[in-house]
Amino acid sequence: MSDYESKIQRLIGRWEGKKAEEAEVIEQHKRKAERDGLRQTQTHTNPNASVETFRENLDTPVVDKCDVLIVGGGPAGISAALAAARTSTKESPIDVLILERFGCFGGVITTVGMETLGWYRYEGCTVDSEGIGKELERVSKRMGGSDRKWAFNDSECLDTENFKFIADTLLTESGCRTLLHTAFVDAIMDPEDPNKLIGVAVENKSGRGIIKASRVVDCSGDADVAARAGSRFTKLNRKDAMGLTTVFNVVGVKKDDFLKHIEEKPATYTDWSKTWQQDTTGKEDDLKSPYMQDEFEELNSSKKEKKEPISFGGSWSALTEKGEATNLNLVHLKGFDPLNAQDLTKAEIMGRKGVMEAVAALKKTVPGFDDIKLRNVAMTMGIRDSRKIIGKYNLTGRDVASQAKFEDTIGVFPEFIDGYNILILPTTGRFFEIPLRCLQPDTENLFVAGRCCAGDMVSHAAMRNMMACTVTGQGAGVAAAISFRNKELGSKVNIKDVQAELVRQEVNIHGYVGAGAEWASGMASGIKSKI
Ligand SMILES: Cc1cc2nc3c(=O)[nH]c(=O)nc-3n(C[C@H](O)[C@H](O)[C@H](O)COP(=O)(O)OP(=O)(O)OC[C@H]3O[C@@H](n4cnc5c(N)ncnc54)[C@H](O)[C@@H]3O)c2cc1C
Repeated sequence: MSDYESKIQRLIGRWEGKKAEEAEVIEQHKRKAERDGLRQTQTHTNPNASVETFRENLDTPVVDKCDVLIVGGGPAGISAALAAARTSTKESPIDVLILERFGCFGGVITTVGMETLGWYRYEGCTVDSEGIGKELERVSKRMGGSDRKWAFNDSECLDTENFKFIADTLLTESGCRTLLHTAFVDAIMDPEDPNKLIGVAVENKSGRGIIKASRVVDCSGDADVAARAGSRFTKLNRKDAMGLTTVFNVVGVKKDDFLKHIEEKPATYTDWSKTWQQDTTGKEDDLKSPYMQDEFEELNSSKKEKKEPISFGGSWSALTEKGEATNLNLVHLKGFDPLNAQDLTKAEIMGRKGVMEAVAALKKTVPGFDDIKLRNVAMTMGIRDSRKIIGKYNLTGRDVASQAKFEDTIGVFPEFIDGYNILILPTTGRFFEIPLRCLQPDTENLFVAGRCCAGDMVSHAAMRNMMACTVTGQGAGVAAAISFRNKELGSKVNIKDVQAELVRQEVNIHGYVGAGAEWASGMASGIKSKI
């Protein structure tokens, strides 16, 4: 083992014995009981109130039917829908529907305002899956939705408002059907087999309805479908889970003054340890990073004194010629449960107040920011960490950091770890393969993609990144469509057929053999980026 390898193994080893505190199993027989008689649902509307049980009329109307249903329209959901729709052929059509609870697609991109699908691409990072994730960047650029680069490397910054339109265009053109303003609320199981999903219950302004679906891909970020269907999942306690963030944008930045300030006082990844207590392998430490911390010293000490669970400092992103500073990732909250609506309410209100305070501090302390105006606060709190399904295989930090290979690979992701106090940037050309099994929960005919796919804490710090979410989204979308076409159960889908379709869709399922080297012979599609 090289020095570098031993170093990263030491870093990730710290979390290895750590188990998620909460591992819930919703008993399968509860589902069977629902079919046998009147439905019983437990709703914890108030943690202090007793559990309420209500009876529901079983003749909820079937409002739609499809072959493949995608729940949630973030980076994973968009990729899953496009991939499933592209698997459809004239001879063998597949009806794909994607639903989303908000009024736009894009997930964290459009509702939180995170614009960087691949900010990890510092020099030396050579590998991407080349699938829909890269396509999102390419199409955004072509359609005027990505006209700027990240501050210190070549990563594209998406215009997150424009991306709403780009997602609409891509989804509509792919032939899949779309349904906005519709929330998934429950899983509908087969009366003959309580472990098999046959559809979902949804709620929207038209009321409650059932959508029957032969295959479902859960891209809700929180594994809502898997949890409701009775699949096992893990969830960290409030102390260990990654924090929540209220992202905001401002206008009125005097770009030249700010850039002069940055040049005089550049931040590096060593500074990250002030906000995020990050450890690195060492090679990251001197790389330049768009980061602010000292600017909030006064504000941070007053919050510390008052013991408020909020802190300030973090990354900025693109600066435009028009004086916009977007994607300000500077207001963080700790100790809130993102699956508890009361916690979310408190966090949203505290986060927005924090944004007002952060804007005031920026005006006072940052050259070029003295005359800024708040342009928008993210329409929803940014969540990094909630449920992770227990899959047929649970990806580990060791897999991420030891160039793991899997027979059922559906794509690759660079050795990039960002979370739980570890930052490893993929500047060595190393990467790992992602197995289909970590998208397969206990429930039959359900696939789970995006940040809630199966894995431990350190692997989550890699897999939660948006480019990785597009890889799992595309893999799950294709697997769902192929299993439907082949008339195979989701859990028994023919992996060779899935991989062949992914390769046809230009996914690089095995990656390069090391930095800058040739394509792996007979493995990759051989089709290069179309930029
Ligand atoms: C503040 C912050 C900064 C980040 N910075 C970066 C970064 O710079 N680069 C990076 O790569 N990653 C970053 N991440 C991580 C990344 O953005 C997320 O992990 C990623 O977006 C997850 O993708 P997803 O598709 O799984 O889920 P999401 O993007 O969360 O999308 C899930 C979608 O499902 C919908 N949904 C949820 N529940 C339901 C339901 N019941 N019914 C219907 N629809 C539902 C949601 O509305 C949403 O549109 C950041 C995350 C945060 C919070």
